[in-house]
Amino acid sequence: MKKVLIAPRKYVQGRGVLGELGQYLKPLGRKPLVLWDPVVKQIVESTVRQSLHGAGLEMVEAEFAGEASAAERTRVGALAVQGQADVAVGIGGGKVLDVAKAVAVDQQLAMVTCPTIASNDSPTSAASVWYDENHSFINFECWPANPDLVLVDTQVVANGPVRAFVAGMGDALSTWVEAEAAFKSRAANIAGGAPTMAAMAIARLCFETLMEYGLDARRDVELHVVTPAVEKVVEANVLLSGLGFESGGLATAHMIGNLLSNVPECQEQGLMHGEKVAFGVITQLCLDDEMDADEKADIVDFEIEIGLPVTFEELNLKGVTRERLQELAEACAGPGSLCHNHPFPVTAADILDALFAADALGRQRRTFA
Ligand SMILES: [Zn+2]
Repeated sequence: MKKVLIAPRKYVQGRGVLGELGQYLKPLGRKPLVLWDPVVKQIVESTVRQSLHGAGLEMVEAEFAGEASAAERTRVGALAVQGQADVAVGIGGGKVLDVAKAVAVDQQLAMVTCPTIASNDSPTSAASVWYDENHSFINFECWPANPDLVLVDTQVVANGPVRAFVAGMGDALSTWVEAEAAFKSRAANIAGGAPTMAAMAIARLCFETLMEYGLDARRDVELHVVTPAVEKVVEANVLLSGLGFESGGLATAHMIGNLLSNVPECQEQGLMHGEKVAFGVITQLCLDDEMDADEKADIVDFEIEIGLPVTFEELNLKGVTRERLQELAEACAGPGSLCHNHPFPVTAADILDALFAADALGRQRRTFA
């Protein structure tokens, strides 16, 4: 099988780099469409306006309506046409970036993502995740190209919510375990080929970086300071995880994480993508017969230490029955599921057992923590 690796054209990360946005956009266009939500706008507006003005660029502004939906894609696309924008810039969280990417593709504009939180690994990817108006997960859509530029200001990330940063570590923690499973099962990656050695090395580095620096980085972000640990974990959450998942592969952890988005109890809890995926990681570890017991416990302990959900209770699913999770398990075992990216068959019963085993393991490790 051929090997394929895809990546953004340029990745820029550092304290204060948002002030250089104009300079980095200049080779890509003259009229950037900037998509942001009111909260992010308030934080970064003066920096962004100054930077674009300094580079002689004329900003076309679009305020995000709140969901990465088909309607929002159409609405923002129309604003880009109206303003004659030539580059789409998403500044904010995953949903804003996902809509900006779609608009770039639809309107044939250059594509730029500026994540202001490191809560997931979508900024570098050539994919968007779509939700319906009720915030339920619909599907992934893959684009023909990755962003032309990914720009991450680590001071902005460190000033942001700790919970989002930790959720990003949950998403990034899944990258190696899923890439390894997909690699062993010879599953094709999102890029449309087998993983390169580079993708697997990046995925492994992502995992090792989190396990070594994750706790330090969490403590530093609580103080809003930018330290080498914060820089390393931002790179792991955004770049290493992004390249690793897209050119490595996905498996059960993301299937569980995505499907939990559609469980009303989890929706009520307002869980972030990386938090659901973090529980999916433990579920996947409980499914895998080659998993080393000590390594499994280390991963669960790490999740507990940094503050990720490891039990049904933390997912707002305390006392959940097998019947209640049957539909989710059936979807996992169904056609086209990421759960088939393992070197062993996966049935609905296997998934249910792994979910309950994960909850029990999480509860047990928590009593030691
Ligand atoms: Zn993810």
